[in-house]
Amino acid sequence: MGLRRLVLGATLTAAQLYQQPAQTPLQYTTPCALLGALFPEQVVFPGEQDYTNAQQKYWSIQQAELSPACRFLPRGARDIQIALADVIYPSNASIAISSGGHSSVTGASNIDDGITFDLSEMSSVNVGDMGKTVVIGPGARWRDVYGTLQKQNLTVSGGRVGGVGVGGYVLGGGFSFFANQYGWTCDSVLEFEVVTPQGEILWVNAGHHEDLFWALKGSLGAYGIVTKIKMPTLPSTSVYAGALSYAQPHFPLVCNALKNLATRADDDLSTQGYLSFAWLQAEKRFEYDVYLMNTEGQSSHEAVAAFEAIPRLGGQLTTTTIGKSADDIDRSNPLGFRRFKFTLTSTLSPGAMTAMHDIVKTFVEQTKFDPTGIIGVTFQPLTSSHLKAQKNIFNLAPSHGPLLLISVDLWWTNADRDIYFSGQANKLQHDLEMTLKKLDAFHPFIYPNYASREQNPFASLNPVTMRMLAATKHKYDPNNLWSRTVPGSTYLN
Ligand SMILES: Cc1cc2nc3c(=O)[nH]c(=O)nc-3n(C[C@H](O)[C@H](O)[C@H](O)COP(=O)(O)OP(=O)(O)OC[C@H]3O[C@@H](n4cnc5c(N)ncnc54)[C@H](O)[C@@H]3O)c2cc1C
Repeated sequence: MGLRRLVLGATLTAAQLYQQPAQTPLQYTTPCALLGALFPEQVVFPGEQDYTNAQQKYWSIQQAELSPACRFLPRGARDIQIALADVIYPSNASIAISSGGHSSVTGASNIDDGITFDLSEMSSVNVGDMGKTVVIGPGARWRDVYGTLQKQNLTVSGGRVGGVGVGGYVLGGGFSFFANQYGWTCDSVLEFEVVTPQGEILWVNAGHHEDLFWALKGSLGAYGIVTKIKMPTLPSTSVYAGALSYAQPHFPLVCNALKNLATRADDDLSTQGYLSFAWLQAEKRFEYDVYLMNTEGQSSHEAVAAFEAIPRLGGQLTTTTIGKSADDIDRSNPLGFRRFKFTLTSTLSPGAMTAMHDIVKTFVEQTKFDPTGIIGVTFQPLTSSHLKAQKNIFNLAPSHGPLLLISVDLWWTNADRDIYFSGQANKLQHDLEMTLKKLDAFHPFIYPNYASREQNPFASLNPVTMRMLAATKHKYDPNNLWSRTVPGSTYLN
C-alpha cells in the first residue's frame, strides 16, 4: 500500500479526498510512518514495548497473533478524522478498530499488515447533568466505569464482566444485569459521538441523525467509529449476587428454575441470572454454575430461594456491588487461550436445554481436547421485559419472549489445532441447530456480540429493518468506504 498524498490539518471530508486524483509522492514511505509524523507519541511499532503490551491484551490469542504494521492511539474524534482523511483513505490502507479487544472473532479488532486503531486512550468516564448522565470513552473497560461511578454512588446498565471493553460491547447490544429494566445496554444510550466513514464528526441522538443513532445500536461498528457514549446513570445500591455450583444430576432442576425466573421477570424485574456448564479437560469433569443477581440487594428473594433450594456443591450469594461482581466474574475469564465462540437462540424450554447438554456431552466424548482445553455453554434468558425495553435494530418482538440466548466457547492452546477446533465448533453448531429445529425451539436471532466469523447477525433481521439499515448506510457511507477500509468488522455491504 503506497502512500500518495499528504494533507496536513485537512478540513476536506474523506469523501472529497477519496475522489481527488493522487498527488505528489511524499517522503513518508508507509502510512504508519506518516501517521507517526502526524501524531508523534501516538503510534507504536512492532518491536516497541508498548506495541507488545497492547498486543497481549486481546481476549483471544489468534487476535493477539495478528501483526499490524503499527497501532494508532487516537485521543479523540478529531485524531480519527485526520487519520482517515490524511492517511488511511489516500493510501488505501486497511484498519481494525479495537476498544477492549474482547471479540473472539479473529480479525475483528486487530489486523495483519494494516493499522489498528487502538482506542484504549479514549477511556474517560465523565459524569454530567448533575449526576444524571455519564459520557464514556469506548476504550474504557467496564471495571473503570464502575470504579469511577462508584465514587459518586452511581452505576450504569453496563457489562457483567470487568475486563470487557465498552465500545464493542455497547455497539453489539450489551447484555447487562439490568436487562429486565432497561433492555440491552445500547437501548439506554442517549447519544453517541461518531466519526462516520465520510469523516464527519457527529453527535447523534433521538432528535439529531436519529437514523444513524438507531443503526448504531446493534450493528457492531458497521457505521463508523464511535468515540463517545452518553448514558443515564443509576443510583448504586448494593446488589445481592454470586455463583452457585451444582452436580450433573440436578441440571434439569436448575434449567426449570431458570425458566421460572425468566417467566416471572415481569413481576420481578430486579432478579437476573444465567446458567453455564463447562467441560474442564484438566480435571476431566463437567461443572455446572448459576450466577444470580438481585440488583436491589434483596437477600430473601423467592426467585433466588428457588435456586438455593436445589442441593448444591457450593457457592453463595453475598451483598456486594455491580463493580465487585464484575471483577469476580472477570477472574474466571483468564486471557491466554485460543478461542472460538458461536451463538444460537431458542425458545426458553428446559427440554431444549437438556437436549443441548446431551449433544455437548457427546461432543466432549468425540473431541480430542488439549490438556487444559475447555468447552463452555451459557444459557441466558431474554425475558419479555427485556425485549419490551428494546430500541435497537434487533426488532425482537416481546411476544416471542422469553427466549434463550446460547453462547458456546471453545478454548485451546495449541496453534496447530486451530483448524481442528473451528471445524469441531462448526459441526457442533450445526448439530445444536438441527436439534433445536427438531424440537421446534429454534429462533433465528444471531446476537452480534457472540457471533462467530461465519455467522452473519444481519441475516437474522427482518426485511424492513434491512431496508432501513441499507438506506442509512447509503446516506452515511455512499461510497462504501467502510467495507473496503475495515475488512474485519463490517457485516453490512
Ligand atoms: C469474558 C467475556 C465476557 C463477556 N461478557 C459479556 C456480557 O456480559 N454481555 C455481553 O453482551 N457481551 C459480553 N461479552 C461479549 C462482548 O460484548 C463482545 O466480545 C464485545 O465485542 C467486546 O467489546 P470490546 O470493545 O472489548 O471488543 P473489541 O474486540 O475491541 O471490538 C469488537 C468489535 O466491535 C468493533 N468496535 C469496537 N469498538 C468500536 C468503536 N468504538 N467504534 C466502532 N466499532 C467498534 C470492533 O471493530 C470489533 O468488530 C463478553 C466477552 C468476553 C470475552
